[in-house]
Amino acid sequence: MTRADRVSARFEEKGIDLLVVTNLVNVRYLTGFTGTNAIVVMGPDTRRFLTDFRYVSQAAEQVSGFECERTPQEFKEALRQGWPDGPVRVGFEDDHMPVRRHEELAGTVPENVELVAAGGLVEAERALKEPGELDRIRAASSLADEALRSVLEQGLAGRTERQVARALEDAMRDRGGQPSFPTIVASAEHGALPHAVPRDAVIGPSTLVTIDWGALLDGYNSDCTRTFATGAPGDELEEIYEVVERAQAEALAAVRPGPLGRDVDAVARDIIEAAGHGDHFGHGLGHGVGLEVHEEPRLAKSGKVALAPGHVVTVEPGVYVPGQGGVRIEDLVFVTETGHEVASGLSKQLTVVR
Ligand code: ZN
Ligand code: ZN
Repeated sequence: MTRADRVSARFEEKGIDLLVVTNLVNVRYLTGFTGTNAIVVMGPDTRRFLTDFRYVSQAAEQVSGFECERTPQEFKEALRQGWPDGPVRVGFEDDHMPVRRHEELAGTVPENVELVAAGGLVEAERALKEPGELDRIRAASSLADEALRSVLEQGLAGRTERQVARALEDAMRDRGGQPSFPTIVASAEHGALPHAVPRDAVIGPSTLVTIDWGALLDGYNSDCTRTFATGAPGDELEEIYEVVERAQAEALAAVRPGPLGRDVDAVARDIIEAAGHGDHFGHGLGHGVGLEVHEEPRLAKSGKVALAPGHVVTVEPGVYVPGQGGVRIEDLVFVTETGHEVASGLSKQLTVVR
């Protein structure tokens, strides 16, 4: 079964006959196309790929299993025709399509076509990785690990957060990857910001430094966080580290086929709440990773998807104490038939890097 076949098999969930795919990440997943303007119209027996003249030769190289049609950039003419006769229910990606584009589409398709909100179908399939996709994520993750090891050899204290972030991003590029997202390097009280932007501030002695980074390689992302010490950070921060480390280990142990995203989230949240830091853990436990850094499934209070073999998720509890500092520990994890495999290779014990 091709990816498009597997997505078609999900049409019943939404009661649709065909699906218009406009999210370019989903177009890439289904067809292999990496350009910036294309639409897919697909169904059990339909495989239309529409792109404009700029991408015709790129599509010929990349796209397989679809009928390529060259159209003007807005696709209007092409979407007026090619539909079956009689009533037909056509899904569109309501979680992604701008309202204005939906209005245009509704004004373009013939009267027998009923547009139906059907977002999330391709994403649900994308969440279940094929072995080749797991290999790519594994490769991205080990490239990221190697890059960080090389940066830590130069030490942390005495360099600015921005210098460390930049060195890490360069180290990923030197190895053939790119940063998956802007690298986070947050020391001392700045570590209390989960999405801290690296500052020009010099990293001091005897403090914690949270580094959250990932590599993009061959289309697939990695995502990992470690918190290091530049010396003894004091009892309170050490205690926070211990709580986060325990929450991370227990939640990780719960990753296997079966539990819902919210069940795994609760494992870490209960531990952090019991330690009196419930208010200091304001984000979800984790998220899927693949063609995008944040994708399905979510490990969060709202996570209703049951984990299944092929899911790739992060497990990243954190405690952030305003004015004092923070700790986050994040692993990238593959759900397997029998449990899980951790793709992140660096130690999670509190490690001193001076
Ligand atoms: Zn991260
Ligand atoms: Zn993450």
